[in-house]
Amino acid sequence: MRILIRLIPLLFFCWTAQSPAQIDSGTGDVINNLTYAVAWKQTAAEYRALYHQGFNIARMQVEAALARRASGDPPLAVIADVDDTLLLSHAYWGYLISRNLDFFDDRSWDDWVRANRAEPSPGALAFLRYCYDNNVEVFYITSRDQGEETFSLALDNLVTAGFPFADQEHLTVLRESSNKAVVQERIRDTHRVVVMLGDNLNDFSRRYYLTDVEERIAGMEADSQHFGSQFVLFPNPTDGHWIRAIFGESEPAASAENRARLKAAALRNSWDGSASN
Ligand SMILES: [Mg+2]
Repeated sequence: MRILIRLIPLLFFCWTAQSPAQIDSGTGDVINNLTYAVAWKQTAAEYRALYHQGFNIARMQVEAALARRASGDPPLAVIADVDDTLLLSHAYWGYLISRNLDFFDDRSWDDWVRANRAEPSPGALAFLRYCYDNNVEVFYITSRDQGEETFSLALDNLVTAGFPFADQEHLTVLRESSNKAVVQERIRDTHRVVVMLGDNLNDFSRRYYLTDVEERIAGMEADSQHFGSQFVLFPNPTDGHWIRAIFGESEPAASAENRARLKAAALRNSWDGSASN
């Protein structure tokens, strides 16, 4: 009984810390908002092909830049985001679903980063090695926060993946902010940046750091000519600033209110079922 009394506050904390996913009253099945997106990430050949497509385009840009390069030009560089661009964490998202969690969970994400089990995205290693072999420097910029260990954990992830340029000079970890612009400008001071790789428009420009869905889409359309030239974008249906545009924050809490907000986003342009316009 004494043990039970001690456990009650802990059980209450666990219950309140993460509101569980909804249960279908008819079937008893868990309704998990992440299921479709994670099933796509885990199984779709099309999803993986988009990475090859992106790295093939990036390589064409690097080849063209190398061909144009004249003696005395600044060194060439590529700027790359890390998560969902070069490293994939499907197993983490699968873990969330296995625990009936339907929103990103910061605490288990930190454990996942420490576990160092992320995998290189399809084509990433070959592209980065091509850059290395041709003296095109790769700079990694990632927004992560696992406390004091953040930099060393991120570096370990890159080293384990076998990526070149995995060192202090080429890796920047932003713990306090997702604003990559300052680091990008610093790299541009000394290098000609051929292409930037990311899964989030914010990886390319801070202009996209908006909480309004329409403004974000309009900003992207204004830059449409840059995709496939300056910017190479990879798919990410589970997280990113598109989530922030819906919820006002990048890591919304698992709550009934946020599930309703997500559903409202999905209904944004829904058909009413009528035959006429
Ligand atoms: Mg990313």
